Amino acid sequence: MSKIKTKLENLKAATRLINAGREYSEHGMVNPAVYHASTILFPDTETLKNRSSLKYSYGRKGTPTSRALESAIAQLEGGFDCKIAPSGSAAISTALLAFLKTGDHLLMVDSVYGPTRHFVDTLLKNLGVHTTYYDPLIGKGISALLQPNTKVVYLESPGSQTMEVQDVPAIVAAAHARGAIAMIDNTWSAGHYFKAFSHGCDVSVQSVTKYIGGHSDIMMGSIVCTEATWPIVKETYETLGVFAGPDDMNMALRGLRTLDVRLERHHKNALVVADWLRGQDAVDTVLYPALSNAPGHEIWKRDFKGASGLFSVILKPAAEESVAKLLDGLELFGMGFSWGGFESLVVPFKPHRTATNWTAEGPCLRFHIGLESPEDLIDDLKQGFKRLQNKT
Ligand SMILES: *Cc1c(COP(=O)(O)O)cnc(C)c1O
Repeated sequence: MSKIKTKLENLKAATRLINAGREYSEHGMVNPAVYHASTILFPDTETLKNRSSLKYSYGRKGTPTSRALESAIAQLEGGFDCKIAPSGSAAISTALLAFLKTGDHLLMVDSVYGPTRHFVDTLLKNLGVHTTYYDPLIGKGISALLQPNTKVVYLESPGSQTMEVQDVPAIVAAAHARGAIAMIDNTWSAGHYFKAFSHGCDVSVQSVTKYIGGHSDIMMGSIVCTEATWPIVKETYETLGVFAGPDDMNMALRGLRTLDVRLERHHKNALVVADWLRGQDAVDTVLYPALSNAPGHEIWKRDFKGASGLFSVILKPAAEESVAKLLDGLELFGMGFSWGGFESLVVPFKPHRTATNWTAEGPCLRFHIGLESPEDLIDDLKQGFKRLQNKT
């Protein structure tokens, strides 16, 4: 049930997060029901014949549970409508398959999330889609790479692990001038701090597993579209048979309600920890766009409303065993993939590049700063840096 009379678009982002999708709840319940549905019964043959005009006709085509989440995420990102996939990676592959066929050309950012690169280099390549990787910092220079058969320019900002902030408006303008669509992986900002559609993007994908889920207990993805791209994505999504389970969709909706307060704290804590890291002798560069003077800070300030808790650090050259000593003794930072939950994480990584060169020599670490007290996190890291420098 929703009492909102004004359009949700007219309300502030935090208010929209609380109310979006609530029109699908019934009987006065605050939350929509969790529908476990495959068969949806038709009252008579006439209704069965005209089922394409029904809101609900088969479990996989949507239930009030899926519609509530889709509507809420579409509202969050400021798009026309949304489809939910069982993981972020499934959302990305579905969205790419919707716009690319044999003979088409894809422009893919060189700092892209690893498994997206793998999908492009294997399955898409085998389907006869030709891909050119481009420098994340190319800006309007992307014009030179657009070909007559370029259908999609794919962005991810900041880039996975290495945090390059892209000049989205410039890249989108160049893509549109040549008839290509712009698709962005918006996971870092959760769609809350970067408004893909007001910056001209045509499709925004994200791993709902991360901040919308927010509690490290579900896998999910979303594809948000403009009115123009929606029918194309919907058709491919339904043809591929993509859908997600109702309990996990409900968990995602539950996570979404607190996104604004959680992100605000992730941002605040990450700034404190990143600033402390910047002052350490063993640290070469902190790659956190929200930090003044950090790479990408100017464009981040221009285009983003805030920052999440994910950033990376380039250490000064150090032996692998010393870095292992730093990491292995940490008590408050888990070591593992994914991020966006309430807890702090760290993983070492090696940037993978094919269109540009990664020239930094030192080892790289990616941090996710959770909702703990940053003082405790810093104390844990202090001990870690002592171990790195063999001072314990
Ligand atoms: C995690 C992640 C994905 C993939 O999401 P899954 O839900 O793990 O499949 C895609 N893009 C980015 C930037 C990610 O961090």
